[in-house]
Amino acid sequence: MTTLRWAAATDVGRRRRNNQDKVLAVDTLFAVADGMGGHAGGEIAAVTAVEALKASFSRDPSMDALERAVRDANRAVCDRAEGQPDLRNMGTTITAVALVDDRGDQLFAVANVGDSRAYLLRDGELTQLTDDHSVPQELFRAGQLSEAEAANDPRRNQLTRVLGMPDAEPDMQSLLPYRGDRLLLCSDGLYNEVDDGEIASVLRRVADPEEAARRLIEMANERGGNDNISVVVLDVVDDDDRAGAASAALAHESPTSRGTTTGLMSAQERNAQLRSLARDREEQPAHRPAPADEPAPPGLAMPPRRVTVRVVAFVTVLVLVVAGGVAAVAWYARGSYFVGLHEGRVTIYKGRPGGLLWFDPTVEETTPITSASLLPARVDDLEAGKPEPSLAEARRYVERIQEEAARGGGSGGDAEATTSTTAATTTTPTSPPQP
Ligand code: MG
Repeated sequence: MTTLRWAAATDVGRRRRNNQDKVLAVDTLFAVADGMGGHAGGEIAAVTAVEALKASFSRDPSMDALERAVRDANRAVCDRAEGQPDLRNMGTTITAVALVDDRGDQLFAVANVGDSRAYLLRDGELTQLTDDHSVPQELFRAGQLSEAEAANDPRRNQLTRVLGMPDAEPDMQSLLPYRGDRLLLCSDGLYNEVDDGEIASVLRRVADPEEAARRLIEMANERGGNDNISVVVLDVVDDDDRAGAASAALAHESPTSRGTTTGLMSAQERNAQLRSLARDREEQPAHRPAPADEPAPPGLAMPPRRVTVRVVAFVTVLVLVVAGGVAAVAWYARGSYFVGLHEGRVTIYKGRPGGLLWFDPTVEETTPITSASLLPARVDDLEAGKPEPSLAEARRYVERIQEEAARGGGSGGDAEATTSTTAATTTTPTSPPQP
């Protein structure tokens, strides 16, 4: 038995005087309607549609019944508008989800007319299930506008299909529910203010559906609240172990397909297998066939829950982080040189003085210069190890202290050497080094 938990909320927003949105959440039927057409018309259209949908669907909770219920709702809106001049132009979107029986199994049926949306959050990823029936989105699907152009097109409020148009056909699709799935139905008052990334973030973070719905509406209002905002958040809390059974079926059916370099199936392999498994269960995977290059309908692209993409991604990231850390330590520990003393002689080492973790310094070059021939300050420096960024720099430093020793003391070649020398040859610091 599939068990659901949900919350529904609607808000007038900050600019409109009345709320022409209508939400429905009852038993196994959920819908958002966004009415339009005059002061009263929008509200009447949305209420008429939702009531007709509910009355029609409750007689037969099946996939076909939901489609029929949307047609009934359309007829109800058209009938209501007929003969009433003030309601003549009214219409409403409708996006509905119902848990339906399908030959003993349970499916989500999704119906859509207009630009209210249904989204699915599965394994942390948000997918828009429905297509908007608006002018720019139709042009985008026809390849005449880019996604960005469509998103910013001023005609986005011009809808090509709404209930109230006698010939409006609903888009229908089905979806297998899995435990952990979260569906969101919403009107454009939400997604025109809050982008998909922010919506996904709230749906991921806020576990309680009521709290999530409240937060989404709050965010839309914070961004302006230019329209009515409606939200239904719907969680699958139990799927009758469908996810576990599907994982087991995958493991049983394809023991060899996991032998890739990562030891896991690629997403394509997995989806192909899931499609073949799902084929037996779904006579009609989607009423609206998807083009070949479009991702498989979410109901069929069911990830195995035991080893999810997120787990693989997490392990991969962890391995990369650890490997990156080791490489950084190695680079830091072995990427430089220092000049020190080895058995009383000036020696160039590769590495860090004293070593770092398990990276000990190694002798790069030895010199015949003995510590006895050096100034005491130099000996101190060398005993501590004098770091140099490269082998060439280390050699130059050795040349300088050799010349210095040959002169029997005196100023070194660079500012740093001068400072050390001054400090070493005076018992009290008297003056800053001279250039
Ligand atoms: Mg709206």
